[in-house]
Amino acid sequence: MIYLDNAATTRVFDNAARAASFSMTDDYFNPNSTYKCAVSVNNEIERARRTIAAAVGARADELIFTSCATEANNTVFLCGIKNRKGNIVISAGEHSSVYECARLLKNRGSDIRIAPLTNGGAVDVDELINLVDADTALVSVIHVSNETGVVNPIGEIAGAVRKKNKSALIHSDGVQGAVKLGEPIDRLGVDYYSISAHKLGAPKGIGLLYIRDGLNIAPLLCGGGQERGLRSGTQNTPYISAFSSAIAEFKQRANREKTIALRDELCECFSSNGCKIVGSDENSGYILCTCVPGVKAEILQNSVYDRGVIIGKGSACSGSSRGNRVLGAMGLSSVEIESCIRISLFCDTLRDDALAAAEIILDAAKTIRSRNGK
Ligand code: PLP
Repeated sequence: MIYLDNAATTRVFDNAARAASFSMTDDYFNPNSTYKCAVSVNNEIERARRTIAAAVGARADELIFTSCATEANNTVFLCGIKNRKGNIVISAGEHSSVYECARLLKNRGSDIRIAPLTNGGAVDVDELINLVDADTALVSVIHVSNETGVVNPIGEIAGAVRKKNKSALIHSDGVQGAVKLGEPIDRLGVDYYSISAHKLGAPKGIGLLYIRDGLNIAPLLCGGGQERGLRSGTQNTPYISAFSSAIAEFKQRANREKTIALRDELCECFSSNGCKIVGSDENSGYILCTCVPGVKAEILQNSVYDRGVIIGKGSACSGSSRGNRVLGAMGLSSVEIESCIRISLFCDTLRDDALAAAEIILDAAKTIRSRNGK
């Protein structure tokens, strides 16, 4: 099986799985208890936090563990703005875990402003900055699109927002960009940044929220006061250990230039066979979205699955019944959107596998088209 849906989730690294297993069966004590072996579990959490902080370019005390990036994004929108009144500016390319929070706040009466995307899939920075004014409480822009892999210039956006409004808070959903781009969070100029571990070789069900030093946020979950009182609930120690192991391994194994070169080869392969590459060249290197003309993505996905290749169609989180909001915002027609597949790579994706998969996809598309008489 050639797995090319790594933007949806990744296989857990063996070392990360072992770390989780050890924590569950040997080092299973409650980190908030006071006896020696429990204190050592608590120390392990802090060791993991330091490892992760070094990998993402932040201070350890700026990171709180959450159950996932969806929770981190919800924490920002529902608790991170505190009593600040004012509008919220997001991009049209946000993941549903940001977009739906904005919709919820809109239904509660907030002024939500949505900046359009260019045809290349990045947020239109000028339009975004036009939407920011003295009353803006929060600006949230995804770092790397989960649909297309297109990178938004978060550092530049943060600088421009602050020029217009010094007190606006800035958040970026960094799920598809963290570590992969190699951009330290503390150089982006953001207040909040969300990360999910399962895109980096760790298990599903663990993520984190970066909260810039000095910011005071209200907790989403109240209770025992874990995570400095910002996220109560007994810490998921097995997955925190796995997260730390995975992020260190990912960082060591990842080679962005090599990944970009492989993506370029795949782009060439698809475009020379009449497929449109969706999104500009400002790409993380890990995601390729392409329109395969005359073929419905779902049928193609099932057909290549039967031949041993797993690919995505649009985002796994945005069900096709709701259409693809982000690709629509880039100006793609509904016919084009229906034929878009998403191929996503990981640090251990083999070139031969990816190129073989591309041949299988193109061959399957040909078969489907000839069956349909096209
Ligand atoms: N944000 C982006 C950009 C994503 O791609 C995803 C998952 O696909 C999420 C947020 C949600 O992450 P989690 O599954 O950890 O809630």
